[in-house]
Amino acid sequence: MTSLPLPAHHPALAATDPELAALVGAEERLQADTLRLIPSENYVSQAVLEASGTVLQNKYSEGYPGRRYYEGQRHIDQVELLAIGRAKALFGVDHANVQPYSGSPANLAVYLAFAQPGDTVMGMALPMGGHLTHGWGVSATGTWFRGVQYGVRRDTGLIDFDEVRDLALKERPKVIFCGGTALPRTIDFAAFAEIAREAGAVLVADVAHIAGLIAGGAHPSPVPHADVISTTTHKTLRGPRGAMLMCREEHAKAIDKAVFPGLQGGPHNQTTAAIAVALHEASRPSFRDYAHAVVANARALAEALLARGFDLVSGGTDNHLILMDLTSKDVPGKVAAKALDRAGVVVNYNTVPYDPRKPFDPSGIRIGTPSLTSRGLGTQHMTAVADWIDRGVGAARDGDEDALLTIRAEVADLMAAHPAPGIPA
Ligand SMILES: *Cc1c(COP(=O)(O)O)cnc(C)c1O
Repeated sequence: MTSLPLPAHHPALAATDPELAALVGAEERLQADTLRLIPSENYVSQAVLEASGTVLQNKYSEGYPGRRYYEGQRHIDQVELLAIGRAKALFGVDHANVQPYSGSPANLAVYLAFAQPGDTVMGMALPMGGHLTHGWGVSATGTWFRGVQYGVRRDTGLIDFDEVRDLALKERPKVIFCGGTALPRTIDFAAFAEIAREAGAVLVADVAHIAGLIAGGAHPSPVPHADVISTTTHKTLRGPRGAMLMCREEHAKAIDKAVFPGLQGGPHNQTTAAIAVALHEASRPSFRDYAHAVVANARALAEALLARGFDLVSGGTDNHLILMDLTSKDVPGKVAAKALDRAGVVVNYNTVPYDPRKPFDPSGIRIGTPSLTSRGLGTQHMTAVADWIDRGVGAARDGDEDALLTIRAEVADLMAAHPAPGIPA
């Protein structure tokens, strides 16, 4: 461990705990030197990093601004009000709660606000691209509630709204979730809202993956269609690990009560501060450019992959994400993902809709462009990225470790020319 270089910019950490400091330093090098294609990840700015490492960490502040159970909150209240005000302005909502610890607890709060244990809830099935917390069986949301699940069509890879409507009218769920973790296409919030209204359900738009695209005007907004909007703050929104719940005034009390005291104790104030900074950054014109560049890069990358004979779920992408089915390339997703990792190209293996293989050894890989766009790569670089993926997948199939090392060196060269936000050279 101690043979790893210590990060000179964390002097106190290096002096107190060299073992841990070395691991942080090594992770910085990994994030700097590799092509990070995991669509739920990003690079936060130096400003966001600094905000999340402040003495706000030292405070307890159960409650909400002006209604705390602890004294000494005058500055903390201002921090939280800044984050709330910026969320409301950026997304155009009546109400924002910035306290959920992460996306999964935020979704739990939604259930607590609108459903009773045993009630029927509805969401997209995990293997179709939904999230665990949308009522999937292994999640508390699928054991404490009765989860019914919709998917995508086998022939198109798209959501079938007739199926969603039939299921909703038959099952009468209390809550319907739309959104997911592996959906390469635009979400039709208006279509979901119409179905939710017919079924008498609360519609929750879980925009964790696409919040930054929405903020930047590169994906339609769920406002005013959804009753509640749930999002993480650390994916395309490029903030700290955290979450927000947004809603109309009529649901504000129920949402706030569910988060605190329903589910949580004290909010993580250092995270609230970093969320405020990220929302400020996301309100600037340069973030609109970023969001549109993420989508342009994903489209260009999808084109280049199709040209190399790859099979993409739904035939391409409208957003930041591409889901690749590697069946026709004769390589299991996990084998490809592990080989690409050795080539400095970081992806995750993923089920594809109607996957005949097991979730822990599925047919696909999932990639995305938020991180590479944060480093300033543009559409002109996407043929190189597609080539690395193509050569990497071929090398995985052929067991050609030398080819993977060659790719790794090429990747490191391009990455060195595009410094990562928040990581000293
Ligand atoms: C990432 C994600 C979540 C969960 O977020 P965590 O912070 O990992 O708990 C919830 N819903 C969707 C759609 C997501 O993509």
